[in-house]
Amino acid sequence: MASCDYCGTSILFGGTRSGDLRFCSQKCAANVPLLRASRAIPEDAVDRLAGEIHRGQCPKCGGPGPVDLHTSHRVYSALAFTSWSSHPEMCCPSCARKKFLKHGAFSLVLGWWGFPFGLIMTPIQVLRNAGGLLGIGEPARDVPSDKLKRMARISLGAQRRAQIEAAGIPPTWSPEGP
Ligand SMILES: [Zn+2]
Ligand SMILES: [Zn+2]
Repeated sequence: MASCDYCGTSILFGGTRSGDLRFCSQKCAANVPLLRASRAIPEDAVDRLAGEIHRGQCPKCGGPGPVDLHTSHRVYSALAFTSWSSHPEMCCPSCARKKFLKHGAFSLVLGWWGFPFGLIMTPIQVLRNAGGLLGIGEPARDVPSDKLKRMARISLGAQRRAQIEAAGIPPTWSPEGP
C-alpha cells in the first residue's frame, strides 16, 4: 500500500500527487519544498536528530520517552456526509495510548452514521487505532521508527532552507556583540 511521503500514513483512497511524491492530504502536500530540501541531508545527521528526539522528553506531557511519531485515525458521519482524517503526533507511549483510545472511541460512536462511507471507514479507522495501540509496546520501539526518521530529515531540511534564505540577508546587529 502507498504511504504518504510526508507523514507516513498509509493512503487508502485517492490522496494527492506531486511528481514522484504521494500525500495523504492537501496539508501534507503543502510540504513538497521541504521534502525536496531534505533529500540532501546526510543520513548520520538524520540519525543523530532522530535519536535525540527519541530519547528526549515528550513534547506533549513533558514525561519520559521513548518519543516517536504516533498516528491516530478518526472518522465521523452525519447523514450522507462522512469525514475521516489521520493525526500524526510526536509523543510518548502514554500520550499515544490516550490518543488511540480517544480517536478509536470517537470513531466507534460517531463514525457509522453516514452511508456508505461511514460503514466502510469506521471499522478501518477503529482497526488502525487498535493496531497503533498494539504497536506501542513493540520491542522495535527502543530505536526510532522510520516515520520518526522521516520527520527528523524534514525538520533538518527546513533548517537548511531557512539558512539558505537567510544567507541572502545581512545579519542584524545585536547590542550583546558576537
Ligand atoms: Zn500525510
Ligand atoms: Zn506524553
